[in-house]
Amino acid sequence: MNDNTTIITTEQQHTSGLYPKRGVALVRGAGARLYDAAGRAYIDCVGGQGAANLGHCHPAIVAAIQAQATTLLNCPEIFYNDQRAAYLQELAAVLPMPARIFLCNSGAEAVEAALKFARLLTGRQQVIATMRGFHGRTMGALSATWEPKYREPFAPLVPGFSHVAYGDVAALEAAVNEQTAAVLLEPVQGEGGVRPAPAGYLDAARRICAAHGALLLVDEVQTGFGRTGRLFAVEHSGVQPDLLILAKSIAAGLPMGAVAIHERHGSLPGGAHGTTFGGGPLLCAVARAALRVYQEERIPQQAVEKGAWLLQRLRELNLRGVREVRGQGLLVGLELKQRVQPVLQSLLERGLLALPAGPNVLRLLPPLIIGYDDLDAVAVLLQEVLGEPSPPTPA
Ligand SMILES: *Cc1c(COP(=O)(O)O)cnc(C)c1O
Repeated sequence: MNDNTTIITTEQQHTSGLYPKRGVALVRGAGARLYDAAGRAYIDCVGGQGAANLGHCHPAIVAAIQAQATTLLNCPEIFYNDQRAAYLQELAAVLPMPARIFLCNSGAEAVEAALKFARLLTGRQQVIATMRGFHGRTMGALSATWEPKYREPFAPLVPGFSHVAYGDVAALEAAVNEQTAAVLLEPVQGEGGVRPAPAGYLDAARRICAAHGALLLVDEVQTGFGRTGRLFAVEHSGVQPDLLILAKSIAAGLPMGAVAIHERHGSLPGGAHGTTFGGGPLLCAVARAALRVYQEERIPQQAVEKGAWLLQRLRELNLRGVREVRGQGLLVGLELKQRVQPVLQSLLERGLLALPAGPNVLRLLPPLIIGYDDLDAVAVLLQEVLGEPSPPTPA
């Protein structure tokens, strides 16, 4: 199984078919580069869809996996464990609020847990999420997700959810009341088109929730662990969520999620929730190594500097096919004047892997350790594909 065609046809034959796939078989990674089975290199601006903030095969992550693999792989949370104890302590020390922590295995699972915790802690049922928000694909997370094409085939969803326009303080004010258990939002909408919250929005959400006894749930699955230029995006505003939802890059590319619960809510009742694999020693050891790298290599600061450099470079290029360049840190979106899929294909053919964020937004999520030479190559390739006049749109 060592050539692209064999890998692709074999997968096509046996896969569920759920994923619209790109015609490339990736078999190896190093830093911000990925390689296909023929040895061709690609610059990675997919970044594991947000899970690879430290790039591929970072030596500190590889070493942590190897060491823990020969020590203990599995240890359910009904027992105590050295790696888990250390990770909980180390994560708590860097969270934006004093908190207790629930560990799980993915973003959607962390969102599910947070929704259950919000109902448990408030005794209320209603959840207010945002238009264009994305929170995952399981039934509860999907109920909070906005995109109709993700939701509609699976109705009826969980009752009690409604959506307000993102960034609209008045709409939030009007929606939240004494029945509201939670307001759930992203500090920057990722999947929904790379849309940073307007200044003051998170503060307003915090104030409105507090006034009505509702909990503020912040989904940092995509924005967390350095992506926007702080370890957590809420640090830009200083807002303290009641529940902070984490996953994607928490364990540098391995599956893990977490919910931080503000200390004011105390500990949760025993038996109210749980998961077999949550808080396992391998993932805790890896997440510890990742957290050390985020701090020692000043990864959030790298995202600040590289993000500012890339945004400026892209804006200066003034690409003909681009309506707007926006983002925070190294979460960058280019709103195109055309559909994004053919552009992604042209970029892939030129050796650049990137993501969509809705039908006409190109999203760049490079590993935060990417070099300036690669970032410059990204700009050059975007210019090749998007600097040309866009085809005339039919009247
Ligand atoms: C990716 C994502 C999720 C879902 O995470 P999964 O691990 O894919 O379940 C939830 N919220 C946000 C903001 C995300 O970007």
